[in-house]
Amino acid sequence: MNESAISKRTASLRNSRLKPNAVRWRALVESACARQGLDLTPLRRRVLAILAESASPLGAYAIIDQLSRLEGKAIAPPTVYRTLEFFLEHGFVYKIESRNAYAPCEHLGHAHHGALLLCEKCGRSDEIEDLKLDRLLKEAAKRAGFAPHRQMVELVGLCRDCAG
Ligand SMILES: [Zn+2]
Ligand SMILES: [Zn+2]
Repeated sequence: MNESAISKRTASLRNSRLKPNAVRWRALVESACARQGLDLTPLRRRVLAILAESASPLGAYAIIDQLSRLEGKAIAPPTVYRTLEFFLEHGFVYKIESRNAYAPCEHLGHAHHGALLLCEKCGRSDEIEDLKLDRLLKEAAKRAGFAPHRQMVELVGLCRDCAG
């Protein structure tokens, strides 16, 4: 077996593994919705489950595919985009702009101004928060006379497992 076949196999094994914190994350989102009086419709619940159980971030079309399979009928993309917007707006998921993909946020309610660490080998993504980095970016933008609306910092490389 050549090296790329091995790494592909490893990636698919990882992808089929249920995230150990999937159940916890779903429970957190459910209680946040209950607290804020947000309606967690059956469709939103299904998208939530799909995101929770994926080992790596998912693009909207991968979510639409899985949802269509689960429902046994074609799901219209705008429905899923609206659902993802709802999750983003309430800070339940974060979006990886460079991959156009979505992943569950492990610490609900924090401001999404951190940095994403994206592994190019296994596809995992982790959020880190660094207030100092945040402040530096804000100050640098201000010096340039720039008024930022959104901030995205994405670092691409190898995660601890893949680098070892
Ligand atoms: Zn987050
Ligand atoms: Zn990795």
